[in-house]
Amino acid sequence: MTTYLYVTFFLITIIHASLYHIPVSKCPKEAALRKCLDQSHIKGPIYFRDNTSAYSDDLNVEYNRLVIVYPTVFVHAIDVLDVQKAIKCAAKLKYPIVARSGGHSYEGYGIGDRDCFLVVDLAAFNQITIDVTSQTAVIGPGNRIKSVYKLALQGFAFPVHGLELEDL
Ligand SMILES: Cc1cc2nc3c(=O)[nH]c(=O)nc-3n(C[C@H](O)[C@H](O)[C@H](O)COP(=O)(O)OP(=O)(O)OC[C@H]3O[C@@H](n4cnc5c(N)ncnc54)[C@H](O)[C@@H]3O)c2cc1C
Repeated sequence: MTTYLYVTFFLITIIHASLYHIPVSKCPKEAALRKCLDQSHIKGPIYFRDNTSAYSDDLNVEYNRLVIVYPTVFVHAIDVLDVQKAIKCAAKLKYPIVARSGGHSYEGYGIGDRDCFLVVDLAAFNQITIDVTSQTAVIGPGNRIKSVYKLALQGFAFPVHGLELEDL
């Protein structure tokens, strides 16, 4: 029984990972980027192509899976410092860098417009801060529409499109 479960799990993992044809070749300056990110001590998870499973999961975040390019790395920043460190590495190496919030760009621009970008994923920035006095709300880019809807419970209104898709 245990063997059966292991084999099933293995097959699922293999099938899952093979949904994308993740290039095995290295991106330009990949080693230098890896070193810089490593030395920056970014706290959030970092997934290069060789971390097939996590990297595929990151590609799966994209709404339009027909427009998939293959970034060098996904950096899951958990705070502003992480974002700054990733940007510094990109600037130092003149590396193409892009921010991803929800991954709902029809064109897939959240992972760049071609292969080999450094993607800074902002999903962890999902805080909403409300200042009742000034009647303002600061909404992190990692929020989805359904979180923003909840502002209505506190007397706020937020004009959003795509109402049929709360996870947008
Ligand atoms: C099913 C569906 C319905 C939609 N309906 C509507 C609609 O009704 N009205 C409408 O206007 N649009 C609609 N869109 C389009 C969608 O709103 C845009 O594509 C929007 O950019 C998606 O936001 P995102 O956070 O998912 O962007 P992402 O896909 O993460 O990124 C899109 C672009 O914005 C940049 N970006 C992302 N986050 C940041 C950031 N924090 N700082 C700087 N740059 C950033 C990325 O680098 C990329 O270039 C819809 C899309 C889908 C898939």
